[in-house]
Amino acid sequence: MSILDRGEHLKNICLVPYEHLTLGLKFNFRVGQLTGRDVLVVTCEECHWTSNVAPHVLYARYHDYTKVMQVQRDMVCKKCGRKGDLAWRVERATGPEWPKLA
Ligand SMILES: [Zn+2]
Repeated sequence: MSILDRGEHLKNICLVPYEHLTLGLKFNFRVGQLTGRDVLVVTCEECHWTSNVAPHVLYARYHDYTKVMQVQRDMVCKKCGRKGDLAWRVERATGPEWPKLA
């Protein structure tokens, strides 16, 4: 199963304010740098299909030190089938810090 199949589970994420996270060195950005507040937004520039990928989905499939640029090669557009060069960006939830249980 592709990581992009999980996007449907994140529909409610739109209820939370998100801001575009500016990455200093996007090419070197690694899976392990994603926090629980982040979501990887994948967009197909060909057909404008988009999907949100939660960090835990990436953690389950890739090592922390895997570059997201490498993950990008595995991404496939579910609409038109375009592969390998889908655009991606990281968005981080904003808002109050909630007390942690652990
Ligand atoms: Zn597409």
